[in-house]
Amino acid sequence: MSAIKLTIDGQEIEVAPGTTILEAARQLGIEIPTFCHDPELPPNGACRICVVEVEKARALVASCVAPAGPDMVVHTKSERVINARKNNLSLMLANHPLDCITCEKTGSCKLQDYCYEYEVASSEFVGEVKDLPYDDTNEFFLRDMNKCILCGICVGKCQQVVGAGAIDFTKRGFVTNVSPGFEDPIEDSSCVFCGMCIDNCPVGALIPKYIFGKGRPWQTEATRVVCPYCSLGCNINLHVKDNEVIGAAPVENSPVNRDHLCVKGKFGWDFVHSRDRVTAPLVKTNGTFVEVTWEEALDYIVDNIRDIQGRYGADSLMGLSSPKASNEDNYLFQKLIRSLGTNNVDSYTRHCHASSVDGMMEAFGNAATTNTIEEVAGTDAVLVIGGNPAESHPVLDYRVREAARNGASLIVANPDMIGLVDVADYDLPLKPGTEVALVNGLANVIISEGLHDEAFIKERTEGFDQLKKGLEKYTPQYVAEITGLDQEDIKDAARRYASAEKAAIVSDAAVCEQSGGEGLVKALANLAMLTGNVGKESAGLYVPYGENNLQGSADMGILPNVLTGYQHLKDKEVRDKFSEAWGVKISDKPGLNASEFFENDKDTAVKAMYIMGENPVGCGEDQEKKAELLKKLDFLVVQDIFMTETASLADVVLPAAAFAEKLGTYTNSERRVQLSQPAVEPPDEVFPDWAILVELAEWLGFEWDYAGPEDVFAEIASLNHDYKGIGYRRLSEQGLQWPCTDEKDQGTKVLHQDSFSRGKGLFSAVEYDPELAAKREEHAAACCTSGYHSCQCLSESMSKRSVISAFKNGCCV
Ligand code: SF4
Repeated sequence: MSAIKLTIDGQEIEVAPGTTILEAARQLGIEIPTFCHDPELPPNGACRICVVEVEKARALVASCVAPAGPDMVVHTKSERVINARKNNLSLMLANHPLDCITCEKTGSCKLQDYCYEYEVASSEFVGEVKDLPYDDTNEFFLRDMNKCILCGICVGKCQQVVGAGAIDFTKRGFVTNVSPGFEDPIEDSSCVFCGMCIDNCPVGALIPKYIFGKGRPWQTEATRVVCPYCSLGCNINLHVKDNEVIGAAPVENSPVNRDHLCVKGKFGWDFVHSRDRVTAPLVKTNGTFVEVTWEEALDYIVDNIRDIQGRYGADSLMGLSSPKASNEDNYLFQKLIRSLGTNNVDSYTRHCHASSVDGMMEAFGNAATTNTIEEVAGTDAVLVIGGNPAESHPVLDYRVREAARNGASLIVANPDMIGLVDVADYDLPLKPGTEVALVNGLANVIISEGLHDEAFIKERTEGFDQLKKGLEKYTPQYVAEITGLDQEDIKDAARRYASAEKAAIVSDAAVCEQSGGEGLVKALANLAMLTGNVGKESAGLYVPYGENNLQGSADMGILPNVLTGYQHLKDKEVRDKFSEAWGVKISDKPGLNASEFFENDKDTAVKAMYIMGENPVGCGEDQEKKAELLKKLDFLVVQDIFMTETASLADVVLPAAAFAEKLGTYTNSERRVQLSQPAVEPPDEVFPDWAILVELAEWLGFEWDYAGPEDVFAEIASLNHDYKGIGYRRLSEQGLQWPCTDEKDQGTKVLHQDSFSRGKGLFSAVEYDPELAAKREEHAAACCTSGYHSCQCLSESMSKRSVISAFKNGCCV
């Protein structure tokens, strides 16, 4: 259809058919006021503040719903329009408390702004006003529905974007209200406290509790940080006044999270100011921690490390680093441990993700999620299996919902009735632990019905014949027996996934681990490759990790067998390169991994350990055993922000800066390297991890010369090919996705486009393991089957010191 030409306020414009007058005006830079309009929600024309005059039209029209028409002549500021808007505002004021002096929204209230602009100081209408009770029942925000102007954006966001469905319009006419069903308190509703309603409320009806009396919007400074929780790495603006974070909001139009957050990002930053922070170096003397100077602490550490190294050799030392620390922190950590002559460097959380990493590495040659988070919204079919993104990675859940709203077929395979089932086309409530059998069954149907992509398989993959043979027994009937599903449902889901132009698979690294780990990831990779759904937009395999820089820490070399950028220790050229860059000899002996240390029942060769930002004793199972193993060490250093269960066992505790107190980069699950800025100063004797490591390296006699994290990043880029084109200067608002190999490279949105990282994608026949199903069933009884399991690998050291611990699902962060 041809473009539509119209005139708005004397300016001509051509727009695509279906464009509204509001959108056309905005394209011309003409601002029209709106309350109820939101680009993410269907227009509803409820508030009528956006009315405009269209020549030859009988009445004023709501520009947010009226489509631009050919040769239309529109006036957005005629006298008639202005009077109508004034009237509208006057009507709103008639039933709105005029407590702007004390209202927390003053300065960022749309009603206030428009009243100022249209010179409406009070209402000419008098009558009954609402007198509704405050809803103050939850820990997060206050609801004062007397201020609500019924724009409905909160309802739309809650129902459509988040899928929580906690609120709706209740009653009718003058007493219309927005509330949970039966006007119950929000605390008793299905609210997930993501704060999206608060961030989008144009007036002061919904106010976060943390901000009361702390400061006006114009008194705060916004600093862009990366969320410290899950691996989506959402962008957050922290609002700071007098060196205190007093609020948070999503960064507008962030490439990762647009303007969405979950409860963790919106409310979970308050641990930064917790009274539990460690604020000075501590040395244990006669079983009690004593505050010491930094010099004393470093001297003590160096003496002990050198003594143990001298007596038992370099491999008696081990380091565990944090997938929550920045890339720079992690890079320097492994550099320090390796400079001491050992490759005993790892992360405790490896047991939550290592199998997924191995599965992806084997199939694709690369352990990263293949596509960007945003692309999920544009897919034609999405299989959500082995996890509940609403709990583990909520912003990803929003994108899956958006895909469903856009018409994509949604297949949910989960033993639990997770929220996505409500909008799913296919609900496959399989028995816990039978995911591999189901995926094999889907693949069997696809091959036996000839729905596979032969050209892709022939040109881009290897191992198809073995896979086909291995899948023969996974007939729908056999898989139905294992999974407890209906075989027709299995066939229908397989057909739908295979027939989609672009199909994505969303899983979860931690849940994959429980569901067969490497096997499930390989089976999912088989499914994606069988249908040619790798290497193209809005397709691929998403297996996001639990922690915000797990991808980055692995990229940096927090792995005992590879150096920065997954360069293998076995390769002499690689070792020589790093030896030359670091001025030390790199051992060619692969190190001990965290599982080998903690699952060891005998005496360990490790005598000293340095743990940066991890809390193995406070995580998951066998906590006593882990504590005993750490107690057996001759020397333990823990660098952390809190006195965790692990730190309490240490000989030395070093106080580290929190995420909001330091500059650094983080790499999210879509491989996007993002810069996080310091929002507040740390306490006096507290320093960023990277700075502590640099200082300790000097005390140990290494010549490290970094003026700041930017220098550290430059060294990372010089040694890691995938990061070569990335530098602080280029990390503006969008970040850059690796591989990014030179300064002109804009990064890589979709992996494996022309070839897989390993050359050809590798199919592997994976067997279903009935023993695993039994274990999962056991686990399901003890915990839950669908969410991210904090009890498995997150110690909650941050979230339990945050208001988010009050949320009923807070156990899972
Ligand atoms: Fe933070 Fe993940 Fe929530 Fe985004 S989805 S706000 S990264 S926890």
